[in-house]
Amino acid sequence: MGEECCGPGESPPIDIEEVHDLLNYIAGEFHPPSSERWIDDFSPATGIRIARIPCSDQQDVDAAVSAARAALPEWSALTHAQRADWLDKIADALEERSEEVAQLESLDTGKPITLARTVDAARSVDNFRFFAEYVREFVPETFEMQGATNHVVYKPVGVAGLITPWNLPLYLLSWKVAPALVMGNTVVAKPSELTPMTACLLAEIIDDVGLPAGVFNMVHGRGENVGSRLTSHSDVDLISFTGGTETGAKVATSSSSTFKKLSLELGGKNATIVCADADFDKTIPGVVRAGFLNQGQICLCGSRILIEESIYDEFVGRLIDETNSMKIGDPSDPETDLGALVSAEHLAKVSGYISLAEEDGGTVLTGGSQPEGIPEQFASGNWLAPTIIDGLSPNSRCAKEEIFGPVVTLHPFSSEKEALDIANSTDYGLAGSVWTSDLDKGRRIAEGIETGMVWVNTWLHRDLRVPFGGIKHSGVGREGGRWSLSFYSHAVNICIKHD
Ligand code: NAP
Repeated sequence: MGEECCGPGESPPIDIEEVHDLLNYIAGEFHPPSSERWIDDFSPATGIRIARIPCSDQQDVDAAVSAARAALPEWSALTHAQRADWLDKIADALEERSEEVAQLESLDTGKPITLARTVDAARSVDNFRFFAEYVREFVPETFEMQGATNHVVYKPVGVAGLITPWNLPLYLLSWKVAPALVMGNTVVAKPSELTPMTACLLAEIIDDVGLPAGVFNMVHGRGENVGSRLTSHSDVDLISFTGGTETGAKVATSSSSTFKKLSLELGGKNATIVCADADFDKTIPGVVRAGFLNQGQICLCGSRILIEESIYDEFVGRLIDETNSMKIGDPSDPETDLGALVSAEHLAKVSGYISLAEEDGGTVLTGGSQPEGIPEQFASGNWLAPTIIDGLSPNSRCAKEEIFGPVVTLHPFSSEKEALDIANSTDYGLAGSVWTSDLDKGRRIAEGIETGMVWVNTWLHRDLRVPFGGIKHSGVGREGGRWSLSFYSHAVNICIKHD
């Protein structure tokens, strides 16, 4: 059944003329929604409908949770090493189909194919491989004390509800599924309704490799129906949510009465701090990448660029040139740097911020509207040229709220203290970067930034062993490496008195 319903399934190129019905995956079988209602999925680049997904409701979620609960005893009884072997099987199967993953991700999100290949497809395989290997090397702690030994045992939490956004669909889903499974939990996943395709491909792959029925389940649909049922469900033990801060607050409220273990990876408004002694040749491409990768639709993007006064004019001139040199257009062209925004609604939101910036006295130095020369076939897509805005107060809404598109604001600073005051003047606290040739200064400024992650002279340089997460309104908890193993398990201490 998987082959019939769950994405094109054949080798590239993907046929976008055909509209596919994607299905839920519950208890090892693919199912249409019990409501028999569907949601259309559109290509962001063309505006053409490319698939329909189930508009699932409570009945579908309840069936998936029951299946996950039923599968839990056998799955949780396996050893870490046995479950790691399953992760490797999934990684191998995903790797075999990585070109298909990249094409579906590019089609469904509007992102450039090269980015989908090098980041989304590659990282999804890495996530499974990494957690398989990591758990094999994981040695639970023991603590000797006078007259006794303490043994820390990591038990599965139970049924894990995993809710993911549209910007890095399979990358983020696999980042949750792999550690959840390897620690012995069973899963009900709810991908974004906007970008369901690669999630569906993962369900197909999991079905193909023969993971026991009910260990992994997936329910498509809207957040207010499927997501909220999952977060309030009395038989779901853990929620890992990645998405916007406003939704995160709803998830926290909804899951609190049943005391679920909760991880929230939320929005960001990250500062890029450029010091006068930065190496321009390395910094400018780095800052442009941090601002605009994936059309600026990455929670870690540096959307506020703080530049030391003495280099402001020269730096800004070169920043504009570098930004304008990016190739925007056909996402399937390997030379393309920037694709389309995920939806017409999101484009309207991002464009609204550009209008607001102008009302607030900002000057659009480049971009601000649909890029020129977009081919006819993309006329109904969601396009916006990379946009640089100058002249706004660091306290303006555009400088403090998450825009989540290809829009950056520029702000001068005259001292480290002022740079930090501006960087820390938002409710968010996810990430940031500092660019300087003085590494001591870089480290000092990095430690002053109130976020969960800071890069010095680089950005989005990720080691999967390190903690990932935000502070303030950017999230609660950490995932990554041992933080993921710890989140997806209950650490239980057993103290054995010596004879
Ligand atoms: P979103 O609107 O918050 O949606 C995220 C997920 O939550 C989607 O699957 C959505 O379903 C679901 N959802 C919506 N309402 C819900 C509810 N009441 N209960 C439970 N689930 C619900 O976020 P988005 O627009 O997809 O993604 C962009 C946001 O994600 C940005 O703010 C970005 O910064 C953040 N993000 C954070 C990280 C991080 O690691 N910190 C990484 C990536 C993205 P539907 O979409 O299907 O309705």
